[in-house]
Amino acid sequence: MKSIAPIFLVFFWLLSCHQSQNQGKIDQGFSSLEKLETKPKSFAIVIHGGAGTILRENMSAEQERQYRDKLEEAIKVGHQILKDGGSSLDAVERTINVLEDSPLFNAGKGAVLTNEGTAELDASIMDGKTLNAGASAGTKTVKNPISLARVIMEKSPHVMMASQGADIYANEQGLSIVDPSYFIVENRVQSLKRLQEAEKKKKTSQKQGFYDSKIKDSKFGTVGCVALDKNGNLAAGTSTGGMMNKRWGRVGDSPIIGAGTYANNSTCGVSCTGWGEFFIRGMVAYDISALMAYKGMTLKEAAKEVIQKKVPEMGGDGGLIAIDKTGEVVMEFNTAGMFRASMNDQGDLYIGMFSE
Ligand code: ASP
Repeated sequence: MKSIAPIFLVFFWLLSCHQSQNQGKIDQGFSSLEKLETKPKSFAIVIHGGAGTILRENMSAEQERQYRDKLEEAIKVGHQILKDGGSSLDAVERTINVLEDSPLFNAGKGAVLTNEGTAELDASIMDGKTLNAGASAGTKTVKNPISLARVIMEKSPHVMMASQGADIYANEQGLSIVDPSYFIVENRVQSLKRLQEAEKKKKTSQKQGFYDSKIKDSKFGTVGCVALDKNGNLAAGTSTGGMMNKRWGRVGDSPIIGAGTYANNSTCGVSCTGWGEFFIRGMVAYDISALMAYKGMTLKEAAKEVIQKKVPEMGGDGGLIAIDKTGEVVMEFNTAGMFRASMNDQGDLYIGMFSE
């Protein structure tokens, strides 16, 4: 026994050398990971202003210019916040505020009107870092519903508030409150009239196809924004007036977390636009994240799968914008067009409306 003791000693000495070498490797691994985590990541921002029958031939040069200018103004607000080191949540909220304040889009001022001729607004926001989320549905007096969604997320114990209660909460929180007439613009009044007349005709002449195409185009113009900040945090938000001529307190996908909006730092941030009923049933925004997490798809592959296959196969249409954790941007739609813009950390600006 005595004679083999030195062999054991040498064996244990060799073993401890090997372990400390490995320990070195592991430590090295951690420290380079840490370096990666603390290194500022690239930032990016993408917005949409709704998807639908957006065709060049239906738009005057002046209208096109107005949309381009507003998309550019909005995205530059968020881009500046990100460039200055601000949070993706701030970028998303402020960018959407600009679009909500513009009568061009179906969100905030200029929202489509309900069957009674009023505006009922829906919005949601999600923080990809904490998976916190906030949403409001059917508000009538909150000037900027995306800001209410954020306050619900950050200051209340809830995720979602609806109708009068949400309006009351917004007032209590000191958000900007307006008269319900603030949201109503003339061209939305005219569009509602046309749609309601078509509805009456349909009842008498059963022109189902004609009426369906009107319905299809009665909901577009929703706005959304997704941002990735320098700290690697993703956020997404969506704001809308929903569907024209809606009644019975109809709520679409936009304020539903997982349907119209989703963000998760480990995968991506997503904001959708389109025929809300299908986006709810398809859980579209979350589906993108799930396909990446569970199937290992890239953001591009997941967006194609859902928007070009799953949603149309169900009978729906629309699009989405998204950014993954590396800053890769996707703008996918199966409609004729989608108002959209993106900017990267180099300041490169892209604006699109039609399919290219
Ligand atoms: N998705 C919205 C809704 O169904 C409408 C839209 O995006 O245009 O309420």
